[in-house]
Amino acid sequence: MTKSNEDMTTKAIRQIQPAPPMHWVGDGFPVTSVISPQTVGKSVSPYILMDYAGPAGFGPSEKPRGVDTHPHRGFETVTVVYQGELEHRDSAGNSGSISAGDVQWMTAASGVLHEEKHSAQFTREGGVLEMAQLWVNLPASHKMTPPRYQELLRDRIPTVELAEGKGSLRVIAGDFGPTPSAAQTVTPVILWDGRLEASSEAILPVPEGFSVAVFVRSGTLKAATTHTVESRQLAVFEQTGADIHLEAETDVEFLVVGGEPIDEPVVAYGPFVMNKPEEIEAAIADVRAGRFGVLA
Ligand code: MN
Repeated sequence: MTKSNEDMTTKAIRQIQPAPPMHWVGDGFPVTSVISPQTVGKSVSPYILMDYAGPAGFGPSEKPRGVDTHPHRGFETVTVVYQGELEHRDSAGNSGSISAGDVQWMTAASGVLHEEKHSAQFTREGGVLEMAQLWVNLPASHKMTPPRYQELLRDRIPTVELAEGKGSLRVIAGDFGPTPSAAQTVTPVILWDGRLEASSEAILPVPEGFSVAVFVRSGTLKAATTHTVESRQLAVFEQTGADIHLEAETDVEFLVVGGEPIDEPVVAYGPFVMNKPEEIEAAIADVRAGRFGVLA
């Protein structure tokens, strides 16, 4: 098949989104909100938020930096660690630490309280932190189901080869051809952590009708043969068409997010993502009444 024939069927670019200015989440996470209602809206549904942090250096400290106890309801938080180490505790009784290559997939659904901190060792020694936290929406039918916790350590995440060995991709969520993903998801969700060497190219299998976007962590690539995407930019593809074409201009590291869009009203307020305003009021009342449990 010639390149032009392939390009006729692959998805076109909808938007190139630069990283917005950095802000702090708690005292531990200097993030840019690449995906949010203010940047790409619903165009990468079921994703509703992506905060990318670092790479940022932290000196040794006595008190762990991070975010103190807070609630979530109506969606999932997915944390991908590239450098550094984090610790998590939640009111569903789950806890653990994740470091480079590990992913935590927390389905808050009906509600959890949790805290997110630098690990004890990272706090004591300091170091470089680089991570992403993504919020994946849940459909109305699953917003009030029990919470679920998937700790996806690096050895459990399948890797596929790209570009005849000049690249690879970790299949965190969303099957990649015959390779099944590490995470179980409620609706079809894609989360692939990839890299390509300079001058290599790949076509990634994304179904017609799915949303998909590629965040470039480092390097430069050309997306859909038409758009140059620099470090810290997000290339959002059209939902029409199938598959995406990426060509590395330099060695490049990237994160692919997408899935089957959830076509429902979204009412988001702080840590709650629901369908109706009265469901937000109910979430606030439930937290106040202690119905999200306790953090032991
Ligand atoms: Mn949180």
